[in-house]
Amino acid sequence: MLVLGAGFGGLEIAATLSERIGDGLDLTLIDKNESFFFGYSKLDVMFWRQSAKSVKHSYRQINKPGVQFRQETITSIDPVSRRVTTQSGAYDTDVLVIALGADYNIGATPGLAEAGHEFYTFNGAEKVRDILPTFKKGHVIVGVCSFPFKCPPAPSETALLLHEYLVRQGVRKNCDISLVVPFELPIPPSYGTSKALLKAFRKKNISYIPDMMVGSIDAKRKVAELDDGREMPFDLFLGIPEHCVSGVVEQSGLVFDEWIPVNKHSMLTKFPNVYAIGDVASTGIPKSGSFAAGAARSAAEHIIAEYEGHDFTMGYDGTGSCYVEFGEGMVGRADVDFYTKSTATGIHRGVSTTLADEKRSIGERNKARWFGN
Ligand SMILES: Cc1cc2nc3c(=O)[nH]c(=O)nc-3n(C[C@H](O)[C@H](O)[C@H](O)COP(=O)(O)OP(=O)(O)OC[C@H]3O[C@@H](n4cnc5c(N)ncnc54)[C@H](O)[C@@H]3O)c2cc1C
Repeated sequence: MLVLGAGFGGLEIAATLSERIGDGLDLTLIDKNESFFFGYSKLDVMFWRQSAKSVKHSYRQINKPGVQFRQETITSIDPVSRRVTTQSGAYDTDVLVIALGADYNIGATPGLAEAGHEFYTFNGAEKVRDILPTFKKGHVIVGVCSFPFKCPPAPSETALLLHEYLVRQGVRKNCDISLVVPFELPIPPSYGTSKALLKAFRKKNISYIPDMMVGSIDAKRKVAELDDGREMPFDLFLGIPEHCVSGVVEQSGLVFDEWIPVNKHSMLTKFPNVYAIGDVASTGIPKSGSFAAGAARSAAEHIIAEYEGHDFTMGYDGTGSCYVEFGEGMVGRADVDFYTKSTATGIHRGVSTTLADEKRSIGERNKARWFGN
């Protein structure tokens, strides 16, 4: 079996299958990177909460029965023959799982590369980290440039953590923060968590601009042009760029309407024994680590059911928990459900330091499980 991509989805499916099948498993996990990091670690690095080195976990440490890791770059995927090539060779496999995540098209937003900063890549977050200490006054816009984007709470978290950082630097009174997002509520399925966020924005003097995206940036004038034609001057623009599949996925013939369509319960694509999980797939649920992990567990159950010849009963139920950083050590949680009702629902679990501890310990637990130590 071949799993392409060792992010949230790839690590979860490899760990689940290893735990269920043990040494009888023959799974090769491929990633171009040397190490894994959680998506939220980019915010920790950007706001000087953790060092880049401390949030990276080397794939060399993976020690799970039946799992071998290879650091290679995938160069082609043929879903018909289930043949995958990398810069080092070729693989033929009986079961293929594509977990290659979402890539970014920064050039899709005119002016973003010239006058703004994206922080959704690790390098982008490190660049912003290096700029922040020199930022002493002016207007910062945290702006979403396209939809869908990873982790819908992340722009709100960024605005709140930026507020905390600027307070710590003693320059908050000289700065304005605006947040531009394409939703009416910051977390549409959860009214409770959204209400808590809106209250925090008011308290921290963060201007919330809902139902809007940044279409382009006038680099010369340093002005963000919103979709309704409004212009917002800025001194620092932190942008969430357009998301897309990577080139190798685009060329695989698996993509329809921008992402890989899958059965939303089993994650099977239209090609036999070819699965797509996580951000690369279109399931109608947000692109987020907790949903990628849920999808991975269901795909693993489907693979086992097919292999053992029994009915598949553990389809993905579209639920997941979103942890939301409020700053000052406080974390909120929304438990959301995308499949049970016709519109997504969410339960607000509060905002507390206990939830901050819970988020940390779930991260530690995932890491220990995925890496087998
Ligand atoms: C700022 C930010 C904050 C976030 N906060 C949270 C959060 O708090 N909670 C949460 O649940 N989610 C969060 N997310 C979202 C989360 O990180 C992603 O949704 C999640 O990682 C998706 O998992 P995945 O397995 O689909 O893709 P990824 O985790 O992106 O993994 C894809 C893997 O494929 C590899 N790859 C890609 N192309 C190739 C290639 N050609 N060859 C070899 N390897 C390749 C990549 O190196 C990568 O390791 C956040 C994201 C961001 C950007």
